[in-house]
Amino acid sequence: MTLEEFQKFIDEQDAFFRSLGKSASERERVLARTVKLSEELGELCDEVLASQGFQRAGKMETRDQNGLGDEFADVAIVTFLLAKSMNVDIMAALDRKVKKIKEKHNKQLESGSVA
Ligand SMILES: [Mg+2]
Repeated sequence: MTLEEFQKFIDEQDAFFRSLGKSASERERVLARTVKLSEELGELCDEVLASQGFQRAGKMETRDQNGLGDEFADVAIVTFLLAKSMNVDIMAALDRKVKKIKEKHNKQLESGSVA
């Protein structure tokens, strides 16, 4: 899946959720998605802990083999949905940020400050 295909999926999901009419306002939708992101991040943390053997035995037994990947995906999906709610062009933001990071790392490499 390309990022463009993923963004199309996000647009479709956003339209679907809007059609359900659960949020009374855009402000409420932003708040709901922010809270949802926190929930999904917690689930991802749970899977990371389990993958490293830091969960109790009972939790380890019920672990889904795809759980870790699924939770990474949930965080990405809700992040993109939240960005859409806030009119953030996430593709442009990613492009800017990647360029910025590359420039920073190149400067560090050129100055020899990277070990
Ligand atoms: Mg989840």
